[in-house]
Amino acid sequence: MKRRLITLRLPRRSCLRLLGILSLFLFLLLAASFRFGALAPDQTASRDTGQDVLHPPQTPPPIRGQVALVIDDFGINHPGLPQMLALDVPLTAAVMPHMAFTQQEAELLHQRGLEIILHMPVEAKTGAPEWLGPGALTTELSPGELKTRLDDALRQIPYAVGISNHMGSKGTENAAVVRAILDAAQEHHLFVFDSKTSENSILETEARKAGILTGSRDVFLDNAADITSIKKQLRLLIDKAKSQKKAVGIGHVGPQGPNTARAIQELLPEFEREGIQIVPLSELLRP
Ligand SMILES: [Zn+2]
Repeated sequence: MKRRLITLRLPRRSCLRLLGILSLFLFLLLAASFRFGALAPDQTASRDTGQDVLHPPQTPPPIRGQVALVIDDFGINHPGLPQMLALDVPLTAAVMPHMAFTQQEAELLHQRGLEIILHMPVEAKTGAPEWLGPGALTTELSPGELKTRLDDALRQIPYAVGISNHMGSKGTENAAVVRAILDAAQEHHLFVFDSKTSENSILETEARKAGILTGSRDVFLDNAADITSIKKQLRLLIDKAKSQKKAVGIGHVGPQGPNTARAIQELLPEFEREGIQIVPLSELLRP
């Protein structure tokens, strides 16, 4: 009996000792959690920088400027169309009227969610007349004929939210041609974008006087078609956007189209790093 009692007592003692150890362990665990709870990540943040030293922020750099990329001369099944459509960038597409693929490409670009404008041929001082394409606005036309040509062109591109000039170094200096464009813009509730093919263009200034939403081109992106030159122009656009808060570049589909699309794609990380946001043209215009 005695021996049995002894053998029974021994495990009880062991149990008590075990309980004691467990309690101590739990106490230490609780104490530790309180101690480290006080040092939770949000409180380890440096008071000087306000930054969480354990979890540095992954937020993108602040927006320092905005650019719009207007791509001209759609409607002709030009090279570069598939590459432009493949870009995940809110391009603004300027579509020419009266071309074999005007409606088809306008539809495609619209489905892609891109902002569309009418790229209206306007008389130039230089260049072959056939570059203008049919239905162009020329300085010898009557106001009635100018209006008819604009209405015809707009009917082909119902998605258009604005008008820009294709060529037009002569016409955008001409009061009657500019008046016709502004009248059409007001009638159809469109903005007016000056491609600025002439330094003496009055399109933007007259649009502003008329209270129409307007703006003009800052940089031509692909007058030289090689990829190095196009990237240089895109970096110039970034610099302008940094200093002016906003800038508009014009690129093209056509022989240089695939290179322009590639240059845009390859420079997207630089746009991001510099804090330059690409937006549809309409977001950068003002009356
Ligand atoms: Zn053009």
